[in-house]
Amino acid sequence: MAVVNIPETDLPRIVIVGACFAGLTLARKLVKKKFQVVIFDKNNYHQFQPLLYQVAMSGLEPSSISFPLRKAFQNYQNMHIRIAEVKEIQPDQKRIITDIGYCHYDKLVIATGADTNYFGNMQIAQNTYSIKSVSEAMYLRNQILSDFELAIITRDFDERQIFLDTVIVGGGPTGVELAGALAEMKTYILPKDYPELRAEEIDIYLIQGTDQLLQGDVRQCRSCGRKVFDRYGVKVIKMPLSLTSEIIWCTSITDRLFRRVKSSGLPE
Ligand SMILES: Cc1cc2nc3c(=O)[nH]c(=O)nc-3n(C[C@H](O)[C@H](O)[C@H](O)COP(=O)(O)OP(=O)(O)OC[C@H]3O[C@@H](n4cnc5c(N)ncnc54)[C@H](O)[C@@H]3O)c2cc1C
Repeated sequence: MAVVNIPETDLPRIVIVGACFAGLTLARKLVKKKFQVVIFDKNNYHQFQPLLYQVAMSGLEPSSISFPLRKAFQNYQNMHIRIAEVKEIQPDQKRIITDIGYCHYDKLVIATGADTNYFGNMQIAQNTYSIKSVSEAMYLRNQILSDFELAIITRDFDERQIFLDTVIVGGGPTGVELAGALAEMKTYILPKDYPELRAEEIDIYLIQGTDQLLQGDVRQCRSCGRKVFDRYGVKVIKMPLSLTSEIIWCTSITDRLFRRVKSSGLPE
């Protein structure tokens, strides 16, 4: 395996894995000091996750919530960005293994964020949509739009429901925002763009393990969410359904790097 091509200097090298909120904020501060800063990220862009649901529901374009990483560090000689996935950490040798080679560090910062939690169930992981990145949001958006196109050419009522109904699992902020955006799309966009489809045929189910939506939120917000859903016809239920076209998984989160990556001596 080759070493990743990064200039050797006398400055201490700080490697940051992940360049979203945490990694980018830190890098912006460190790059002004006497360090060589090296960012590794799978993507060449920074993404604003709180608005991913708007991209998934066609409310915003991906470029509205992401910008190129290199733009943020245009004038810094001591900053190096490498687009690569970190596969392994070897703390005894102070190096990381990536899919483009290995890289030594003096200090390592892991800012890889969180991943969707499927609770170890691979069937759920393979058969549902998640919304943690721009590419996942775009995939979901394309799927929803192509399902509307399929619904338009499907005569049979029951068959059509497979393309129109959506189940969202998880009544936290992401699930609630997504259900709200989908309900808005059904109410305001669909009648204009797809006048041949009947909006009443579209069912949106939000599955929540307890009776309470937005559990971590303030009380006012929780009851407000319910009222809005009643108005827009989002059905909040506690039991999963079987006949659905899309299932969007928005439950809790889990750690990203160490779940998938051999940590070589670091605590699991
Ligand atoms: C749909 C959604 C809505 C949200 N809404 C809100 C909200 O309203 N308010 C709020 O406060 N928070 C919200 N959050 C949470 C918030 O976005 C996260 O807390 C925040 O993004 C965490 O920042 P981070 O830098 O730690 O990780 P992330 O933003 O997840 O960034 C991790 C970075 O690491 C990179 N990476 C991961 N693994 C590797 C690897 N092996 N090799 C190389 N690079 C890797 C990724 O490409 C990514 O760039 C929301 C999250 C989602 C998904």
